[in-house]
Amino acid sequence: LSDRLSGIFDKLTRRGALTDSDVSEAMREVRRALIEADVALDVVKSFTDRVKEKAVGQEVVRSVTPGQMVVKIVHDELVRTLGAEAEPIDLQSVPPVPIMMVGLQGSGKTTTTAKIAKRLTERDKRKVLMASLDTRRPAAQEQLEVLGKQTGVDTLPIIKGQTPQQIATRAIQAAKLGGYDVVILDTAGRLHIDDELMRETEQVRDIAQPHETLLVADSLTGQDAVNLARTFDQRIGITGIVLTRIDGDGRGGAALSMRAVTGKPIKLLGTGEKLDGLEDFHPERVAGRILGMGDVVSLVERAAENIDQEKAQAMAKKLAKGQFDLQDLSDQFRQMQKIGGMSGVLGMLPGIGKMKKQLDAANLDDKLLKRQTAIISSMTTQERRNPKVLQASRKRRIAAGSGTTVQEVNQLLKMHRQMADMMKVVGKGKGGLAKLFGIG
Ligand code: GDP
Ligand code: MG
Repeated sequence: LSDRLSGIFDKLTRRGALTDSDVSEAMREVRRALIEADVALDVVKSFTDRVKEKAVGQEVVRSVTPGQMVVKIVHDELVRTLGAEAEPIDLQSVPPVPIMMVGLQGSGKTTTTAKIAKRLTERDKRKVLMASLDTRRPAAQEQLEVLGKQTGVDTLPIIKGQTPQQIATRAIQAAKLGGYDVVILDTAGRLHIDDELMRETEQVRDIAQPHETLLVADSLTGQDAVNLARTFDQRIGITGIVLTRIDGDGRGGAALSMRAVTGKPIKLLGTGEKLDGLEDFHPERVAGRILGMGDVVSLVERAAENIDQEKAQAMAKKLAKGQFDLQDLSDQFRQMQKIGGMSGVLGMLPGIGKMKKQLDAANLDDKLLKRQTAIISSMTTQERRNPKVLQASRKRRIAAGSGTTVQEVNQLLKMHRQMADMMKVVGKGKGGLAKLFGIG
């Protein structure tokens, strides 16, 4: 998107304030990007109207292009709409604090119940009781019991034949008697919103009087997100939203839709099937995802502060072709240290989450960066340009020269090879490095 917008504005040589027609043209691109990200249509419209109102008449700051200016305004408005900062689960109430999970079947309620319980137990040292009110789906109560065993969190003993309302009553009582801090009620879902579901959930709400009512929704929910959020909020009254499957292909448009129609905060993100796949919501990340540019905005901001632009472009070209040698790697290490380390930079690029994990696993910290820089310093120019010449005896010499081991030299060479391969792929891909540095 940022490229497309820049394209439009590159045609304008004039400086000064953004005019109505400049902005209208840009908003067509923004609208397309939002629709591609599955943001609901009426939300798209009110959003672009708001941005337009803010943008028209704004002076274009010197040293940025009108295109960059609009991208920044769009980005900032997205972040503002999504809710400027993360809001945690609120436990400020008399224990046991009831939390009710609501949503459609398969949205991830039961999994999220266990994830939240695990986090509250392990991180916040709370005593948590979980109870499944799902009497519809066979084995739903057993599913939660299994998750309880896995996480070491207590679950309400199952009594077959009880209604959801009876289970809710029993759960609250058990939580009071057992001295629990928090009791999480995992309600039954339906395939679609129906009146029966809503009535049942309303009754459970009246019994449990939840302090937090979290709507769990699949982030892949497209145009339905608005109706879903609006209905649950009107009938049940939600206090927050949990978006699951953020690890999937969805671009997070549902986040914007649901937040916009309910005004309720998105509190948490489900990032995987595993029980530690739970993250706080960061509006900036989701805004970047919706605009399809990773965290490019912040990367550009930080990079502009620290990196010599020309050097970065030359480097990006080399990286994109996968032609970068150990000398480049050493230069790069120095730059990386300035902007939050290698994993910090890669983590901001779209589609690199996995690689980042590998780098984290490789413990690519500052100390390691320094050792690796030392290894490269102990090489001859020829060796740096063409690592293939490095035979065992040369490796021993380099290890001795840099105060490291042959094993560490090998690790560095392996990492360089992997990075060169990865850069080739990323460099070619949409939103890759070349594009990022504006040379794509
Ligand atoms: P419920 O019907 O709302 O209780 O949904 P479940 O908790 O049973 O989840 C349905 C399926 O979605 C299960 O296979 C979960 O493992 C999976 N799931 C839940 N949350 C996530 C998530 O954040 N990411 C991924 N990839 N899968 C999830
Ligand atoms: Mg369930």
